[in-house]
Amino acid sequence: MNDILPPESARWEWLEAKVRDLMARYAYRNIRTPIVEPTPLFVRGLGEVTDIVEKEMYSFEDRLNGELLTLRPEATAGVVRAAVEHSMLYDGGKRLYYMGPMFRHERPQRGRYRQFHQIGAEALGFPGAEVDAELILLANALWRELGLENVRLELNSLGEPSERKTHRAALIAYFEQHVDSLDEEARRRLHSNPLRILDTKNPAMQALVDAAPRLIDFLGPQSLAHFESVKTILNANGVAWTVNPRLVRGMDYYNLTVFEFVTDQLGSQGTICGGGRYDYLVEQVGGKPSPAVGWALGVERVLELINQQDNVAVVPVPDVYAVIPSSAALPLAVSTIERLRQRGVNVQMHAATSAGMGSMKSQFKKADASGAFYALVFGEDEALRGAVTIKSLRDGSGTQVERSLDAIADWSSTLQSTR
Ligand code: ATP
Ligand code: MG
Repeated sequence: MNDILPPESARWEWLEAKVRDLMARYAYRNIRTPIVEPTPLFVRGLGEVTDIVEKEMYSFEDRLNGELLTLRPEATAGVVRAAVEHSMLYDGGKRLYYMGPMFRHERPQRGRYRQFHQIGAEALGFPGAEVDAELILLANALWRELGLENVRLELNSLGEPSERKTHRAALIAYFEQHVDSLDEEARRRLHSNPLRILDTKNPAMQALVDAAPRLIDFLGPQSLAHFESVKTILNANGVAWTVNPRLVRGMDYYNLTVFEFVTDQLGSQGTICGGGRYDYLVEQVGGKPSPAVGWALGVERVLELINQQDNVAVVPVPDVYAVIPSSAALPLAVSTIERLRQRGVNVQMHAATSAGMGSMKSQFKKADASGAFYALVFGEDEALRGAVTIKSLRDGSGTQVERSLDAIADWSSTLQSTR
């Protein structure tokens, strides 16, 4: 679990601002659900025989009533619970997004943490392929906005439960023939959840998994038509994709379309975003049957990719550093600074250390280090004239001009013009 400190936190804010803006353009609305949910929500929703439920959840007992609770390992189940609890779908579908921390007890490594952050989008109540495509286009637009390159899209279809059942039988028969090549976990899952074996991270089993019966070959015409519609809309929008028949995702709630955005630039933690349709989860959680589709991206992985590609400089810099030569000038300085801030100017105020306000020289050093474009100097002489000195710090000119405090509205806009 990591602390996120400045200046790195500025990248987080920058990413979050981009996401908010984009979600608004696609008319997805923000939802905020609790970090703790009843354990059964995840056990039933995600599936008992999944990595998350078997070994990754932080669960504990409520001291007062013994209720089993879990720090959310993902947010889809909570969003669906909230939608059901508040009858959000009574007047039609809802498009929602969230951002926040998730918790999984995993082995920490690059791109894999125990508290990590997801941004997710969910569209509840829409059965059509156009919404699957909309969500993929939304994620794709985000990569574009963030300047991310080399992200590829993998698609698959998991069909419907009846189709999965036939495939399941074929899968069990296949793995039974190769039981000696299965690792311990796969053997355990062979009869409880053989589809999960396809999601193995064990490289030794890759060849075996690659040759396993493909779910896509078991799909009926309706499932195939849904899949084709998604692809057709993506094609019409110039979005490149490949079908990965091994893509099954880690939770049991998915059906029909599933997808992942993958990069080769993050080592083995290359999936930055994953999602798909989950038409049966709303009913599972106790609501009226309602189709749904969504995705979640891993913020840490996306930011690492951004850092690597190094195509954005996100360093917050104040417009102005307020140099305050003596504490006698503080009342006037602070009230002027406040007026500037009300007008939208970003001002970093010089503040005393235990050694006092410090010399002009040391204050200008700090002004330079802050990256501010201007220093405002609240000198005694200027104060007597009801004025302040504005010194340019960054254009090399060192230009100094005096401005009247009464005309603050006139010059405050120039102070932010360099942003
Ligand atoms: P993986 O296969 O890498 O374990 P997952 O299938 O468990 O991923 P999802 O549950 O689909 O992941 O979550 C969506 C995204 O959240 C992932 O694609 C990844 O970017 C991110 N993510 C998942 N687990 C972690 C983690 N422990 N630390 C950081 N990011 C994570
Ligand atoms: Mg995982």
